[in-house]
Amino acid sequence: MDFGATDYSFGEDCGVFGMYDLSGGDVATTIYYGLYALQHRGQESAGIAVTNTFDDVDKVFCHKDLGRVNKVFNEENISRLKGNLGVGHVRYSTAGASTRENSQPLVLAYIKGTLVLAHNGNLTNAPKLRRELAMGGAIFQTTTDSETIAYHIARERIHSKTAQEATVKALRKVQGSYSLVVASPRKLIGARDPWGFRPLVIGKLDNAYIITSETCALETINAEFVRDVLPGEVVTISSDGKIESNLELALPENKTARCIFEYIYFCRPDTTFDGMSVTKSRIIAGKILAKTHPVEADLVVGVPESGNMAAVGYSMESGIPYGIAFTKNTYVGRTFIKPKQSSRVKSVQVKLNALREVVAGKKIIIIDDSIVRGTTSNQIVEMLRNAGAKEIHMRVSAPPFYHPCYFGIDIPDENQLIANGRTVEEICKIIGADSLGYLPLEALKEMSGGLPICDACFSGNYPIAPPNEDIRGEFDK
Ligand code: AMP
Repeated sequence: MDFGATDYSFGEDCGVFGMYDLSGGDVATTIYYGLYALQHRGQESAGIAVTNTFDDVDKVFCHKDLGRVNKVFNEENISRLKGNLGVGHVRYSTAGASTRENSQPLVLAYIKGTLVLAHNGNLTNAPKLRRELAMGGAIFQTTTDSETIAYHIARERIHSKTAQEATVKALRKVQGSYSLVVASPRKLIGARDPWGFRPLVIGKLDNAYIITSETCALETINAEFVRDVLPGEVVTISSDGKIESNLELALPENKTARCIFEYIYFCRPDTTFDGMSVTKSRIIAGKILAKTHPVEADLVVGVPESGNMAAVGYSMESGIPYGIAFTKNTYVGRTFIKPKQSSRVKSVQVKLNALREVVAGKKIIIIDDSIVRGTTSNQIVEMLRNAGAKEIHMRVSAPPFYHPCYFGIDIPDENQLIANGRTVEEICKIIGADSLGYLPLEALKEMSGGLPICDACFSGNYPIAPPNEDIRGEFDK
């Protein structure tokens, strides 16, 4: 189900959108629409920073604040963002508190000019790096892990010929997940960590280049997709329009580890992540569920929105008709929902209502993308029962969650995960369904079209050793 981030102590961090118009046109409005398309990646804060590469590049115009894109920006403040090179960001925090200071892009004045940075991901060695920098006299403006990257780039720049070289050197020091967009005075730089946890793509619109989190943002602004930034790649777009690539940080392909939860939940269904359509991926998961957990029923329905495509796949494979069983109140603001258990329960009820006409007297297969604490499933099953469903068979298009994530998905403590220490039968009983079936772990690889993935939250197999200190909320102590 899509609750968005603020009602939840579990979420992923951020969407980035950088744009460089080589002809000199203003980019802020296009970045704004790009961020709109990335809103699902973070609703806590939004920001845009721009410079004019034909003028005084040290002059950066920046507007950022807490709230969603349409709350933070208006015609008036966008019109003040004059410049042809810019970076935008929407944030959901997993490290660092949700405050205005922590909103991005980060704008840093340093010896070579101005550096603007937007980060999606979570660094696993950020506390250590930060302590080292602080011991060297650094004064931090934020409590985010992203600032440590910006500082390191700034430091390395002093001894590097180019901003790209400085970025590569800085990124050698950081560990964990990052998809970054950096505007150094006259260059747009994109970087993806060697494991490729988070997506990052390059697009083109007339004489402008874009580096952004998801292909859906390119489609929204009518830009053409150029290519994915590769895991471990640093790309630099200069004023002559050349895309320079640096692969010094890249790992062998079999060591890469795309976050499978991007396919399961985070990415928008119209996004293609490393060549694999997210919709296709979810349909595949639904088809596999139909094969591995068949059941006789009258109707297959999804929990809107993220369960819908898997429900379509289940229906295609099983031949059981697909239906729409819920009406969704699209006017429910995400921000009013408090991250307390009691409010969370209410938020499910406020957001969805079951359609009695569709479900009454029927055997229903209901598909959601994941069960975390079990709150949603419990409510959904109850709703369907109250609406007269005869049988309710819950299917989940992900395996059970057992382990914490250190790479950007802020999964709650293990003891809050419903699957922890329980059998599927026990979970089924708690949520009140007639049967329950999860996607088998082995099926995940098919969801990414065979690309290497990170499934540590389900399997416990971490592609990088987990940090030996708790990085969650570390900077706010
Ligand atoms: P729970 O109610 O705790 O079991 O959470 C499961 C529900 O939360 C499912 O409907 C998911 O679609 C949804 N969900 C999963 N991940 C997230 C996330 N990061 N932010 C908000 N909702 C999520």
